[in-house]
Amino acid sequence: MKLQIIGSGAIFTKYASAATLIDDKILVDCGAGTFKQLFRLNCNIDEIDTILITHLHSDHFTDLPFMMYAASKNAANGQKLTIYLPEGGIKAVYDIAKYLWDPENTATNWMPQNVQLIEYQNDNVFLVDGLQVEPIKVEHGGIKASGFIIEKDGKKIGFSGDSTMCDGVVKIVQSSDWVILDASCPQAGNALHMGLDDIYRFCTEYPNKKIITTHMYDESRMVIRKDISNLVAPVDGDVFEI
Ligand SMILES: [Zn+2]
Repeated sequence: MKLQIIGSGAIFTKYASAATLIDDKILVDCGAGTFKQLFRLNCNIDEIDTILITHLHSDHFTDLPFMMYAASKNAANGQKLTIYLPEGGIKAVYDIAKYLWDPENTATNWMPQNVQLIEYQNDNVFLVDGLQVEPIKVEHGGIKASGFIIEKDGKKIGFSGDSTMCDGVVKIVQSSDWVILDASCPQAGNALHMGLDDIYRFCTEYPNKKIITTHMYDESRMVIRKDISNLVAPVDGDVFEI
């Protein structure tokens, strides 16, 4: 599997919104700035056929209308785009996407025919492009939020999405060979996010797993330890082969 870090930053940083591209086709999260970041990194937007959204915060889903718009231009070529969302996500996407197609909300049929919106249920596995995706409930300040365990050819990548330390994150780490974890805070975590203390603990407890940080604030990026062999703090655009 190919893993490309599209964005690795939290909100108040120059680094792009946290998002990851798998095998050039599956995008995990699509928040503020992700669409243009894909162009900056010379990714082929037309190849992306699936988007998985961890939760409905703006830095994770509000660039979806632009991805839908891009897909709509290729409908005649047979391109399809399927977007998997947490509960409530379909309404949220209609609410923001109407400002691209129908700002005055006069029509009801503007949704591109080749775009499909699906709300997933936690723990219910589904298949995309030959990959198995399992959404796992995580804790993110009380809103509906999920991480994912994604499996292909016996290898598993875990995504915490935005989460504080919780049972869901532990399950994701335990189940995965590689895991991309919310490392927002420079020391302890808070009610919404993990901190580097949590990340270091995982690195020690699971020395055979590769741990990649994401959603980092600059304070966290500046102090992260560089002497831990199974810990990687990527910058935007980095590619990993798994
Ligand atoms: Zn969030």
